[in-house]
Amino acid sequence: MSDVENYMKVEFEGISENERLARMLVSAFVVTFNPTLEELEDVKTATSEAVTNCIIHGYEQLGGPIEMTMEKKGQELFLQVADYGIGICDVEKAMEPLFTTKPQLDRSGMGFTFMEAFMDEVKVHSVKGKGTVVHMKKIFGSTCKRV
Ligand code: ATP
Ligand code: MG
Repeated sequence: MSDVENYMKVEFEGISENERLARMLVSAFVVTFNPTLEELEDVKTATSEAVTNCIIHGYEQLGGPIEMTMEKKGQELFLQVADYGIGICDVEKAMEPLFTTKPQLDRSGMGFTFMEAFMDEVKVHSVKGKGTVVHMKKIFGSTCKRV
């Protein structure tokens, strides 16, 4: 039997106004974790970064479906953000701090670095021309990683 206590799956259009929608959805979902304000901010920021990447990079601002899945297992949140856009050639390189393919759009190349700082686990699966899935995990109520 699955140990998933609760889940939510949503699909929305990859346009910039939906970044706020995604933040609101994840905030609503994590209420039952009884999060601290800091934990809530961490999850909202990581969600924003992942969704913004789908919109700006995955779909190059032309729109397309974004799927967001949230699962609660005890005090663990499993959050997935997926697009069916252009994909990433070299995931390891893309995840390096300050690496960006869109400096002309004033991107700073810090999105994945923030996701890794604010969440307990970040894994990226991507296929060129098919899309990208970012898997993140957050453990609520654990000692903060940052000092
Ligand atoms: P910032 O997030 O600081 O505004 P950024 O988006 O360029 O800048 P990251 O979020 O760390 O920085 O992403 C690094 C790079 O990985 C991007 O420049 C882009 O090339 C690639 N990338 C990230 N997400 C996706 C995605 N969903 N689809 C395609 N490429 C992506
Ligand atoms: Mg980014």
